[in-house]
Amino acid sequence: MIMDNQTKSDILGQVARPPVRSGPKIKGSFKIPEEKLKEPLYYDGTVVRCFCFGCGISTELLSEGAMHLVKKAEADVPLSWEGFYFICEQCIICAKDFKRAVFKKS
Ligand SMILES: [Zn+2]
Repeated sequence: MIMDNQTKSDILGQVARPPVRSGPKIKGSFKIPEEKLKEPLYYDGTVVRCFCFGCGISTELLSEGAMHLVKKAEADVPLSWEGFYFICEQCIICAKDFKRAVFKKS
């Protein structure tokens, strides 16, 4: 992706880290389809969904991927993934890795 300086500084402004306890304030390009994220997983072996509001695509993650994202989100691994989902700003589809992942309970 090629960005001009203005766009770049806008993006840098958005990724400024919010204070840990105040909860994430996320401004995305795509609306989070919360209802859809709660639906049963479609693929065998996947444990949780991650919605990327950068590209608007939700991916289903295998447990390794989910563990990776939990670490990125600085969250604790739940006993069961049921009812949880991630949202992120970039994902492996639109970028090299997940970025600014947030772990959510529906
Ligand atoms: Zn993405």
